[in-house]
Amino acid sequence: MNQSYKKSVVIIGGGPAGLGTALMLAKRGWQDITVIEQRPSADYYEPDKSFSYQIDGRGQKLTDFLEITSKLADLSVPNTDFYFTLIQKDGTRKTTKLPIADSKRKTAYWLPRASFVQLLYQEIQQHWQDTIQILFNTECVEIQQIRENLKIITQSQAQEKQTWIPTLIVGGDGLNSIVRQTLHQMSDQSNSFEMQKFPSPSSGLKYKVLTLPPQFPLSEQEGDVAQSTMAYGIRSSFKGRKKAISLGLLPFKNPHTPRTANIITYPDHQIWQLETKEEVKQFFKQAFPQLPLEKIISTEEIARFTSSGGGTFPIPQYCSGLYQIWGKPENNQGTAVILLGDAVHCFPPDIGQGVNSALEDIYIFQEILAETQDNLSQALPRYQNLRQPDIKALIRLVQISYPWQYNQDTLRKRLWSINFFLRLLLNRLLPFLFNPHSFLLIQNHELSYSEILDKSNRTTQVLSMLGGLAILTLLLKLLN
Ligand SMILES: Cc1cc2nc3c(=O)[nH]c(=O)nc-3n(C[C@H](O)[C@H](O)[C@H](O)COP(=O)(O)OP(=O)(O)OC[C@H]3O[C@@H](n4cnc5c(N)ncnc54)[C@H](O)[C@@H]3O)c2cc1C
Repeated sequence: MNQSYKKSVVIIGGGPAGLGTALMLAKRGWQDITVIEQRPSADYYEPDKSFSYQIDGRGQKLTDFLEITSKLADLSVPNTDFYFTLIQKDGTRKTTKLPIADSKRKTAYWLPRASFVQLLYQEIQQHWQDTIQILFNTECVEIQQIRENLKIITQSQAQEKQTWIPTLIVGGDGLNSIVRQTLHQMSDQSNSFEMQKFPSPSSGLKYKVLTLPPQFPLSEQEGDVAQSTMAYGIRSSFKGRKKAISLGLLPFKNPHTPRTANIITYPDHQIWQLETKEEVKQFFKQAFPQLPLEKIISTEEIARFTSSGGGTFPIPQYCSGLYQIWGKPENNQGTAVILLGDAVHCFPPDIGQGVNSALEDIYIFQEILAETQDNLSQALPRYQNLRQPDIKALIRLVQISYPWQYNQDTLRKRLWSINFFLRLLLNRLLPFLFNPHSFLLIQNHELSYSEILDKSNRTTQVLSMLGGLAILTLLLKLLN
């Protein structure tokens, strides 16, 4: 087999999709892999992007292939040990263990984004230094077509420009992917590389992250401190959609890592209208009388929080084109481009599938590379045919599974709970007729997103038919 073409890869983006793909290709024997990342380092701490990932069985298909799942487990809090403490406005607390609905499900691991990206980076440093080079502080600024090749232009922080003409370009550069946008501009009339957007009640919600000390005090009582491996929900004393607020903290394995408290609300919430650090300080003081805030939030953190722009949950979206080929890259004449992760599917974090779907993209790409002996002209169309229906189903699942979890609307959240528990109960009683709610089915990594959506839709149809029959029977009884 001619292996000479298994080289010269440029990956734009050093997030989970970019570094995961670099490791996967290196493991498959590819050479000369370069990752271009605009951030200064793998574990670079950005307060408003310091969310946690839950790497489930789906994401672990890739970490198993890369043989790093045990290292992942060492850095994480397993979902089997996930404890959540709810702290009410009067300081009363209740701790519950996350129920495990399916005991056969693979253990999932919680860890901060920066720790996961750092794990992938260290793996490269330890085992693949001769094969993979990572250029931090370097941005891909342009991609040009030159006959049957694409030329990548990068710029370092010192304004130095470099050009690359690789065999394979991987767009792992997230939501605002320059790779996808360039493909869109190059594909004149088709809209294959344009993001198609679908509404969701959680998109548009605004978020900011408060950084708290690692084991911050929960009260004035000595020794009463937050445990790093515990998740917390801290409710405010305020009422009403525009004033009530909640701090959400996910568990960290490392007891020395600063805690991050997410604040997620509608964009017209009062907290986003506050302009000075004094106003913000006063707001928190009134909102959380149950906490010794002076000891928890430093003046510098209040100032940073006030001036931070925060972020907004994206609209669920995907593009149907996942690849493009110029020439014959397997003969070293031409360039192939593949898009993975957020570059092709992006959505709010409701179902925790952002990172898992990105890792599954890479795993499926690797399976197809194995089937086609790394022949890109065969592998990429096959990848698109196989993955496209699942991406479409994933975006629909995001819309329907749990968009009301951010306390936006009490009634809608209650209706969601009724629907969830009704399906769970019916599934336990009549498993051949009813499936559990899609929010639970997603946790079964052996089902594809398309299979999960089919199961969910079938149960919806049966429930609608039974509901229709019940109404009809009631009407007939009334008429009689
Ligand atoms: C607030 C929030 C909470 C989230 N919570 C969760 C969660 O709980 N669970 C979950 O699974 N997912 C969550 N996600 C989604 C998750 O972050 C993404 O799905 C995941 O990171 C996708 O990985 P990626 O590598 O495709 O993209 P990204 O993580 O976005 O990485 C892209 C990388 O490309 C780099 N880059 C971009 N453009 C260029 C360029 N031109 N040149 C060089 N480098 C470039 C970026 O700096 C970045 O490092 C959340 C997202 C948000 C916004």
